[in-house]
Amino acid sequence: MKNISRRKFTAYTCFFAALFVGGIFAAPRLYAKKTPLRPPGALEEREFLATCIKCGQCVQVCPYHSLSMFDITQLNSIGTPYIDARKRGCYLCDLFPCVLACPTGSLRHDITSAADVSMGVAFVKDMQSCLTYKKQRVASEDLAQILKHSNKNDREAQTLERVGGYIGEECSICANMCPYPQREQAIVMFESSEGAVLPKIESKCVGCGVCAELCPSGVISVIPRKNYEEIYR
Ligand code: SF4
Ligand code: SF4
Ligand code: SF4
Repeated sequence: MKNISRRKFTAYTCFFAALFVGGIFAAPRLYAKKTPLRPPGALEEREFLATCIKCGQCVQVCPYHSLSMFDITQLNSIGTPYIDARKRGCYLCDLFPCVLACPTGSLRHDITSAADVSMGVAFVKDMQSCLTYKKQRVASEDLAQILKHSNKNDREAQTLERVGGYIGEECSICANMCPYPQREQAIVMFESSEGAVLPKIESKCVGCGVCAELCPSGVISVIPRKNYEEIYR
């Protein structure tokens, strides 16, 4: 009888330990799904929702067409701006036109440099699907969808042209296209002890989502409204 109880106890312990460990790994993904990625300088979410007047000025002036406004399916956020990083990240423009255009300060006007931005933090969700981990070069099919992203002006065209230049090459798109001015402080490629070359998110990542947009394998996402310390330490 005692043995059965001990076996049951061990089974319950293993079950709850698995739930706990699973929770740790699943939490960033769940959080990323329910919290929207806001433009640079956005106030804390509740304050942002209370002060944004849904004027769309930030959306209008963004030269990269990074911003969209939530529709009626997002009831409490309807009309507010967000970024779908897989479609177009934020390129951290000089002078932040979106911030300057915001009439209410919902996008904080004291944001003046990329170092002031804190949108979230990038997260490599499936390292084994990264092209360099698999030792594969970038094929044109890998970039087919990305090269269809918005291409309405010179800035957008130059960005897509740079990405297209990786066809046939080893991938380091995420690390090389990061718009943070000192990008090696935000993301680097490093060689693991097993000899695989992999991207590594560094402490200055601001969660702009450009690496998530341009990754040909789609293995990077942004965890909105979290910082490096919260996710990696
Ligand atoms: S910083 Fe530039 S790319 Fe980013 S949302 Fe603002 S205007 Fe758009
Ligand atoms: S690593 Fe660079 S490109 Fe990726 S989210 Fe961070 S700052 Fe943006
Ligand atoms: S962009 Fe970065 S994460 Fe994506 S396949 Fe290339 S090296 Fe890997």
